[in-house]
Amino acid sequence: MHPFVNPTQLPLLAETDILVIGAGSAGCVAALSAASQKRYSVMLVERYGFPGGTSTQMLDTFYGFFTPGQTPRKVVGGWPDRVVNELAKTGAIFLRPNTYGAGTGVNYNPERLKRVWDQLILQSDIRYLLHTTLVDVHTEGERYACIFWNKAGFCKVIARRVIDASGDADFCHLADFAYETAGEREPAQSMTTTFRMSNVDLDRYEREGGKKMLAAKMRVAVETGQHPLPRKEGSAHEMNAKGCMSTVAVKVTGLSALNVEELTRAEVEGRRQAFVYEDFFRDAVPGFDQSNIIGLSHQIGVRETRRVYGEHRLTKEECLSGNLPDDRIFLCGAPIEDHRQGKNGEDETYWEYIPGAGVYGVPYGTIVPKGSQSVWAVGRCFSATHDAHASCRSMAQTMSMGQAAGLAAVQSLANDEAANGLAISQLQEILYGIGAVLELPDEVADTSRMGWKR
Ligand SMILES: Cc1cc2nc3c(=O)[nH]c(=O)nc-3n(C[C@H](O)[C@H](O)[C@H](O)COP(=O)(O)OP(=O)(O)OC[C@H]3O[C@@H](n4cnc5c(N)ncnc54)[C@H](O)[C@@H]3O)c2cc1C
Repeated sequence: MHPFVNPTQLPLLAETDILVIGAGSAGCVAALSAASQKRYSVMLVERYGFPGGTSTQMLDTFYGFFTPGQTPRKVVGGWPDRVVNELAKTGAIFLRPNTYGAGTGVNYNPERLKRVWDQLILQSDIRYLLHTTLVDVHTEGERYACIFWNKAGFCKVIARRVIDASGDADFCHLADFAYETAGEREPAQSMTTTFRMSNVDLDRYEREGGKKMLAAKMRVAVETGQHPLPRKEGSAHEMNAKGCMSTVAVKVTGLSALNVEELTRAEVEGRRQAFVYEDFFRDAVPGFDQSNIIGLSHQIGVRETRRVYGEHRLTKEECLSGNLPDDRIFLCGAPIEDHRQGKNGEDETYWEYIPGAGVYGVPYGTIVPKGSQSVWAVGRCFSATHDAHASCRSMAQTMSMGQAAGLAAVQSLANDEAANGLAISQLQEILYGIGAVLELPDEVADTSRMGWKR
């Protein structure tokens, strides 16, 4: 806590029952699921001028809805489905079938997704504030006084329950909950500036070999030194806009997103690498010769920073066990996908698939910071080891965490239950009721291009 901010002298912006910090995929869904119960006031506060966090800042594909492999199962439901349904109504999705990687992705138009998040939030009774950053936390009795900064200066929001969906666990950090910082034990996952290229001749690209051809060209470029690409495994995929491709190729390692000097260097380096790739694509990849970068991600993509120590800490062994524990609040079938620097400094992406039925259940305690009575931490700052996090961070899962936390906050207020003493079976009943998937479905999912059934 910062001693220079005296909360008693700050203007009171609002008193709310439930405060959600950060409007990323986890935070938006947390606010929506809490507000859908229509019992308590809900406020959602975001530092940028648009919602969605990583989902709209830099990406265009939801992973984690489907298990990978030849017999995909749809393992997520409820609010995450509603988000995709709203996108589907606008015609702004298609499925990208994949039997490998993270499984079939739900590809969307990220600008359209900003509108969908806005609309869903405005249709709910949520007090929604953009351009407002959490900077400090105090307690007032049993409530939290959260200090924000925006163009009007500092202000205060008093909340009975708080959901930290800031990605970086900013609230938990300021409120002195324990956490592990990425890089403390294992090397932190790399950061990536995504970029989009327009005017690509997709027919030609596919005719000349598509993905496989791209991988071969990247290998040659690196091995011959023709183009100084940072990695051989970068990917590019078709977007939901004609003739446009999106990439996950840039790789920035060894810098911390929690140190602003290093984050600045990472942003600069990410942009530098993006234009090295632009040269490569234009020179070497059939279909791209008349193409240009038309957009860089709003900020560099950060895969992990702080991970709270929760009432339960998800481990690699639990992911690979394929168990469905009794206290589960959602399922995950995504493999461990660890983008890291190898021992000799080389580029490496480590994959490990979930064996057996290819799915595991995630316990409620992973979204409850240790000792917490009234706080939940969701999304990429939830409680997991580095390896487990590398599996359980796709957006279908971060939305599912938000869904459970929003409902848990309502239940906690209604029954006067502590976050760490919640009746989990009651939460599970509500989750079942809204369509969350807590059992492995028998049915193989339709993952054909337009296989999303509303
Ligand atoms: C490069 C990259 C590629 C990825 N590829 C995929 C993919 O293709 N598909 C997939 O499903 N997953 C992918 N992931 C993982 C996934 O996108 C993330 O794990 C997920 O989006 C995290 O969601 P979140 O809501 O927890 O956090 P974020 O999306 O980071 O949202 C946090 C929100 O909180 C706001 N915020 C932060 N601090 C404050 C503060 N102090 N005050 C107020 N607001 C604050 C931020 O602005 C942001 O809007 C990728 C991740 C990266 C980085």
